[in-house]
Amino acid sequence: MRKTGSTLLVLVAVVLMAACGGNPPAATSVPATAVPTAVMAGETPTAMMAAESPTAMMAAESPTAMMAAETPSAVMTATTGPAADTSLAAIKQRGKLIAGVKYDVRIFGYLNPETNKVEGFDVDLAKAVAKRIFGDENAVEFQEAISANRIPYLNEGKVDVIFSTMTANEDRAKQIEFSDTYYVAGQSLLVPVNSTITSVKDLAGKKVGTVSGSTSEKNIRAFAPEATVELFSKYGEAVQAMDAGRVDVVTTDDIILLGFAKDAPDKFKVVGGQFTQEPYAAGIKKGNTELLAEVNGAIRDLISSGEYATLYKKWIGSDPASTPPQDWREVYKTAPVIPTAMPVATGTP
Ligand code: GLU
Repeated sequence: MRKTGSTLLVLVAVVLMAACGGNPPAATSVPATAVPTAVMAGETPTAMMAAESPTAMMAAESPTAMMAAETPSAVMTATTGPAADTSLAAIKQRGKLIAGVKYDVRIFGYLNPETNKVEGFDVDLAKAVAKRIFGDENAVEFQEAISANRIPYLNEGKVDVIFSTMTANEDRAKQIEFSDTYYVAGQSLLVPVNSTITSVKDLAGKKVGTVSGSTSEKNIRAFAPEATVELFSKYGEAVQAMDAGRVDVVTTDDIILLGFAKDAPDKFKVVGGQFTQEPYAAGIKKGNTELLAEVNGAIRDLISSGEYATLYKKWIGSDPASTPPQDWREVYKTAPVIPTAMPVATGTP
């Protein structure tokens, strides 16, 4: 009886570990190139599916798990095997950079179904880092990194660097390194064109869709405590739910929402201005200062050569009003742009 009990326990542990995306204890070292999700064309739908590993899904499905997914302890429980080596030396030896980007966010990281390639500002920045390290902007493989799995992916060594509309903040900086700021967004609202909602102050009793593991989730709970927050794992899913009438509004960074509004201007509009500051920076594993220096070198070179302004114009659709402050902490010292009930500009490509 006792034996059956312990056998059962072992079985349960194995099943749980598998569900958490853990590697069997026998695996002693998993080079990044051998990580199952590190599929070469990270730009294919297969890679997308792979990126939604049980780890990501579990984390994405409950708010508690989601919040936990960003804490070091949750990362530890999700990782039973040793993390793959993402040091600069290992990246050079591998011959390519592995970058985590969004796949459903136009303007920053989008898997274009026509080309079957990922594209966007974040994608181009990752290519610039590959060019700096290898002299070849194509020496980069992309993995889909949704909001909830960005930090776990870095800690597990699934990706070397995250360029995934990621806000740098003190909480996250305890867990990973952040590069220089490369864009400053602000949280806003996407609503159906006929909606009467014009500001974050109009959300009492409304259903608000957003994504687990995002700053948007935390912020909206603070800014609209009387709203009901519905969590999704990706922004595209939240927008689909709004289209089907299951939520009244979708909230996240204005530049992400603008991409959805631009896709369907007859259905959606962005309202409410910016009610937070969201400085975007690349994420790198804690302590990986050599890679951090390369990422910062690439961003600084882009800015000084004028290439940053070209990329900004290509993706954001206008000239940058100013260069973002190198240190993301500086961004929080300035007030967000709050034209309360004003729609933000729609000049996207
Ligand atoms: N920039 C915010 C964040 O990093 C919201 C957008 C996102 O989830 O990627 O949480």
